[in-house]
Amino acid sequence: PAPDPAAGAAVKAADRAHVFHSWSAQGLIDPLPIAGGEGSYFWDYEGNRYLDFASQLVNTNIGHQHPKVVAAIQEQAGRMCTMAPGFAVDVRAEAARLIAERTPGDLDKIFFTNGGAEAVEHAVRMARVHTGRPKILSTYRSYHGATGAAINITGDARRWPSDNGTAGVVHFFGPHAYRSHFYAETEEQECERALAHLEETIAFEGPQTVAAVVLETVVGTAGILVPPPGYLAGVREICDRHGIVFVLDEVMAGFGRTGAWFAADHFDVVPDLITFAKGVNSGYVPLGGVAISGAVAATFDQRPYPGGLTYSGHPLACASAVATINAMAEEGIVEHAAHIGENVIGPALREIAERHPSVGEVRGMGVFWALDLVKDRATREPLVPYNASGAANAPMAAFAAACKRGGVWPFVNMNRTHVVPPCTVTEAEAKEGLAVLDAALNEADAHTVD
Ligand code: PLP
Repeated sequence: PAPDPAAGAAVKAADRAHVFHSWSAQGLIDPLPIAGGEGSYFWDYEGNRYLDFASQLVNTNIGHQHPKVVAAIQEQAGRMCTMAPGFAVDVRAEAARLIAERTPGDLDKIFFTNGGAEAVEHAVRMARVHTGRPKILSTYRSYHGATGAAINITGDARRWPSDNGTAGVVHFFGPHAYRSHFYAETEEQECERALAHLEETIAFEGPQTVAAVVLETVVGTAGILVPPPGYLAGVREICDRHGIVFVLDEVMAGFGRTGAWFAADHFDVVPDLITFAKGVNSGYVPLGGVAISGAVAATFDQRPYPGGLTYSGHPLACASAVATINAMAEEGIVEHAAHIGENVIGPALREIAERHPSVGEVRGMGVFWALDLVKDRATREPLVPYNASGAANAPMAAFAAACKRGGVWPFVNMNRTHVVPPCTVTEAEAKEGLAVLDAALNEADAHTVD
């Protein structure tokens, strides 16, 4: 579409008048007015087009405006926009079936929510009622959402301003070989010591007080941390031994992001509960949920589940999930994500890392990658300090600005950039974005000791 800066200015003025933005000091932000999006791109009113290397908030797994999903939402809107959760509704039942068919093991019952945080809220409520125990264990390097329990379960710094010490959450360290908390020198050591640390945390908390261990299968925003072989199976075994519910949060990792329907598929592990959102319908209509094992579901066979939402299983959201999952299956989108990660993005990032002293580590799978940026490869000192802002964060801000000037919308968190395009990104688009990233890393290199 033709540029229309006046329309963009009007949108921004209207936004600034009344929209209160997430995670922001309202007086310090300058939101970019967006005119539209399609596939892997979106564009502003000035004529700038951006390759979406962030998939918005890592949710547009099938890209912007997938025609089959748009048509399904339109069709459903004409038929039935809304219906309370107590009724049986065709698209709700079909969405639940399509999801349950893809979840591992016997996670065959689906409770629908409006997004990821609510999915986590309900998963931990199910675990607490099921076990009759109060505590939730989760890792420091994690993000689980911004509502009451979810923000406390979150380990990263976004928890700090809202931390409620009475929420019954205990944090521990998961495995992270590059920045080992356990002085480990190999992945095997990291795995073994991380499991011993969890076992000890549970022993000191009192196993009879622990309802659930909540983990991101592959940690997302807090660093794209792929667990070492054996870790998740080890957590499963510990949970089984102590009667603890094992929750895998796949809000970000699920629905194709790692090159599998669920990231758990890569690790041969079956949790008791899986939380999902984002990729289930690429966020076209707000939707999340919890996939529930037979044993946890049975707790609520004769006893009411103490929770619900006006919009649980909203027909528009469920219709978009049905269309999204069917399109992903028909078009081989999950397989494509695996292929592009293994053959294009992974190899290109490793090559980029050789050229740039600021790249400390490349890690990831599918369309779920991180570059861990450092000042000094020898010491692995992060390029910017933990949770830096303002001047201290300038090197990362300069890197992000260079990406945007080059037409790529990057995902930046602390000292990392994540390469998280849609699962549908083509080889040519991935290469175009990686070339821009490559050049932008010169900004980061300027702050290294080498
Ligand atoms: N869990 C994980 C792993 C996430 O990445 C997120 C969001 O980024 C959430 C939960 C929260 O989801 P929502 O923002 O839809 O509430």
